[in-house]
Amino acid sequence: MTMRAIVAERSGGPEVLREARLPDPEPGPGELLVETAAAGVNFIETYQRSGLYEVPFPFTPGSEGAGRVIAVGEGVTGFAVGELVASAQARACYAERFVVEADRAARVPEGVDPAVAAAIPLQGLTAHYLATSAAAPQPGETVLLHAGAGGVGLLLTQLLVARGVRVISTASTPEKRELSRAAGAAEVLGYEGFADRVRELTGGEGVAVAYDGVGRTTFDGSLAALRVRGELVLFGAASGPVPPFDLQRLNAGGSLSVTRPSLGHFLRTPEERAWRFGEIFAAVASGELDIRIGARFPLADAAEAHRALEARATTGKVLLEP
Ligand code: NDP
Repeated sequence: MTMRAIVAERSGGPEVLREARLPDPEPGPGELLVETAAAGVNFIETYQRSGLYEVPFPFTPGSEGAGRVIAVGEGVTGFAVGELVASAQARACYAERFVVEADRAARVPEGVDPAVAAAIPLQGLTAHYLATSAAAPQPGETVLLHAGAGGVGLLLTQLLVARGVRVISTASTPEKRELSRAAGAAEVLGYEGFADRVRELTGGEGVAVAYDGVGRTTFDGSLAALRVRGELVLFGAASGPVPPFDLQRLNAGGSLSVTRPSLGHFLRTPEERAWRFGEIFAAVASGELDIRIGARFPLADAAEAHRALEARATTGKVLLEP
């Protein structure tokens, strides 16, 4: 049996993503085979496709997906055929079927639409660890958050606001600024001169935490927007990687700190994964967390999905549907 899947034969622009037929994957010991309801499109897949992050080619992208279990590998306990599962740590999800280690999958609560389930794991778990663990801003504190209308941005804003944190966000267009405001941001800025505006909006003090997934073009401003002993959480490079910088700048800025976290390091144990998934699914079920699906593309149009993401033309979650 074969299935439709996206394959890149080499690194390059979005055009290297082509639909092809691949042999059906088989679940190994401890693994689940899942019929893809939807696969999440994430910035990391653009880094892998372009060669910024090294991956072996030919390459089928996709670590995020949801769907029904259609087969279980040897030794799997706790999952059965027919159950709806989701994961942020699966393999080759840009395909009609994908494989995931059972202990990296979560059962999706009843009532959650399978496509919505695919939109939750990667950006939802990221927003969760950014709000609770990579930094932990306190109620009443102010943070800066870039790309407030993006996938991570909309979710992180909602989680922070629910914890009583005041969010100042950035976004590039009036439509995106409106979305960020609706997610709870108290102030939404354009990128031009944002560091000075943040100082004005914090009475000259600066923010406790700057969440920066944009990278190259915002890093200097994010540092400049921090208060004394503020923390810069650099979690991505949507505009490109940040060049090396002089650590002495952290001292001059007021005993600042910078961290460069990754989701995998915040899903270290089954307990940690279950805690984060549990809180995110519960927040979705209670309506506290609104999942915005900004665009759905047919699987065959994966290249279009990458183009849109890289052109800053998307909001919220981007999904591929087989
Ligand atoms: P988004 O939906 O946020 O899309 C990226 C957004 O970044 C764009 O929509 C755009 O918003 C903004 N942006 C600013 N400058 C540029 C540029 N030059 N090119 C492209 N986009 C730009 O993506 P995700 O929510 O999927 O991811 C957000 C960030 O989080 C990414 O950097 C990603 O790598 C990172 N990430 C990190 C994780 C981790 O654990 N470290 C896990 C998951 C994601 P606007 O138009 O408003 O500027």
